[in-house]
Amino acid sequence: MTDDARQYRCFVNQCPMTGGIFLSGSQGPGICGHHYGTTGHDIVRVTQTLLDWECVTYEINLCRSALLKVDVDREAVAKSWTRLQPALSRGGWGDELAPSGESYPQWGQKLERFLEARVKETTRGVAQA
Ligand SMILES: [Zn+2]
Repeated sequence: MTDDARQYRCFVNQCPMTGGIFLSGSQGPGICGHHYGTTGHDIVRVTQTLLDWECVTYEINLCRSALLKVDVDREAVAKSWTRLQPALSRGGWGDELAPSGESYPQWGQKLERFLEARVKETTRGVAQA
């Protein structure tokens, strides 16, 4: 049941991530790691950042669901990069995110760290500027 539960969407309105953190211990929708602990206006800012990076959230969710299977496609990283490259290169992130021999789980983690940094910029950017 936990594998199925991991595929629920985050319960924050319009959030594109899966809700991996369960607040109630029930099997209903959970909350994603980006929204966990956020309050007030930051909830909307986080959602908007995740929607702005929907090409990356799509790949992360795909990676998470693929890892539930026994057999992960050996070309999964290359395929993911092929889908992401046009958008990321346009945004100037191509060099930073280009694959460098990661396994598919490591690739998913790399994308998650990238997205986490973008979310932090959104919620702390004004205070740090
Ligand atoms: Zn969320």
